[in-house]
Amino acid sequence: MNTLIVSALLRPRNQMALILALLLSLSTPVQAAAPKAGAKCTKAGSTATAGGMKFTCIKSGTKLVWNKGVAIKASPKPSPTPTRTQTLDASPSPASTSLIEREAWEFTYLKIWNELEKAQNQGSFPFDYKLSPNVNQEKAKESIAAYDKAMKLWMAILSGEKVSPVVWAIMSEKDYAWWKQVVDEQEGKSANYAWNPTTNMLGHCQLSSTIFCGYGNAFKANTSEYKFLQYNVIGSNYASSPNANTVNHESVHFYQLSVVQSFPSDLPCWYVEGQASLYGGALEFDLTSNRFSSIRQRNNFKSIVRQYQPNADSYVPKEWVEVLKNMYYPHISCSSQQDYFKYALGMFVWEYLYQQFGPQVMHQVLLDFKTGWSFNETLQMRLGVTLDQLNDELATHLVEVFSKSQPKSTIAPTPKPRPKPTFTPTSTPTPRPTPTPTPERSPDDLNGLSCSKENEIIKNSQGEFWCLKFGERYQWAKNNPDPNAKRTP
Ligand SMILES: [Zn+2]
Repeated sequence: MNTLIVSALLRPRNQMALILALLLSLSTPVQAAAPKAGAKCTKAGSTATAGGMKFTCIKSGTKLVWNKGVAIKASPKPSPTPTRTQTLDASPSPASTSLIEREAWEFTYLKIWNELEKAQNQGSFPFDYKLSPNVNQEKAKESIAAYDKAMKLWMAILSGEKVSPVVWAIMSEKDYAWWKQVVDEQEGKSANYAWNPTTNMLGHCQLSSTIFCGYGNAFKANTSEYKFLQYNVIGSNYASSPNANTVNHESVHFYQLSVVQSFPSDLPCWYVEGQASLYGGALEFDLTSNRFSSIRQRNNFKSIVRQYQPNADSYVPKEWVEVLKNMYYPHISCSSQQDYFKYALGMFVWEYLYQQFGPQVMHQVLLDFKTGWSFNETLQMRLGVTLDQLNDELATHLVEVFSKSQPKSTIAPTPKPRPKPTFTPTSTPTPRPTPTPTPERSPDDLNGLSCSKENEIIKNSQGEFWCLKFGERYQWAKNNPDPNAKRTP
């Protein structure tokens, strides 16, 4: 890591941690406790000072111990005290995290956080921004800066890989005419006119002066003209700052959609939202300085899983396998009635994928989707497991996630040793046909969209929607999920 570049880009609140980390890494090997003559040490030849004495680690029989020490003439430098090293876990080096006992997932969050910081010397993701003349320029810039930072993590993963264009139009709720012009220009004859000027709905958003909302459109998927179009309205009175969870979550989708135009048909529904939820969750709070918020955030995801699987805490692997086997459309687990289930369960699944295989291998998986391989083929080629084997591993992981006490360690868990995948598919990948368009969702269907006022109720042609708190976010939830219920026309 080039610390100079990183420190120049770090936000102020992280600078102190970095400076402390640098101080520590410049000193001689870190010792957990002040040395004492005859006490155990770990590395022959290493030295440490305490109480004006300099001790050297020597071999005594089969043991390594501190020698009797020599007095230092100059005034002794203060040696790092254990309490100080406790605060130094912002450094990526394992030495400085070694004193804190953490659950396995925390190391994944720390790695992701570190990945984002390290990636800040990357170039920007090639968004093609289009700002309307009326949009609040300050708020638009704030959003762009937040996404620019978030996307650098993916620029590092992509490492020069060609991606499809992502056009991003940002406008105010008063810019209907401007939006229409952009859509005509970008989407031509097959334009998707998602803004209804009569109802003032934009996709699934009810526009107002205080909203930040939008929709995306994959244009001409599976053709050479493919591009991803994102349209956002920043209300003229919108005052909030970008939420790190949302920004990093949506950035994962920008990454996914800039690499692949459509996903294999055998892809479980936890995949796309699970990856986005993991990064959104891991990057919402700095685990090193705000550990409790991170833990709370993750516990909220457990609560969401329990809403749909009330016995999650006592499941044995076999029961999780059943849950995982049902994670396909149109099963209820993947339907909009259980919208958050795939996000939350997906996040825990992705914790495991990240920990076991790492982001580079998972990137290869995404590239294989682009080539046209199925999920099952890709798993065998890249991860060396079949779907059934993966589900078994995931089930064991989920039992651990929902068990009462989880093992803690001062070091990150090591991935399972695995033979190099040798699977070669006998067939060549079939270029995936253009996906059948998903049935148009009514713009009145607010289910799952974000809202801002808790307990606000909207009634429209699709029913009654309540603004409820899900985890850290407020989202519309359909009040009557009964499919047989009579809908108002
Ligand atoms: Zn998402």
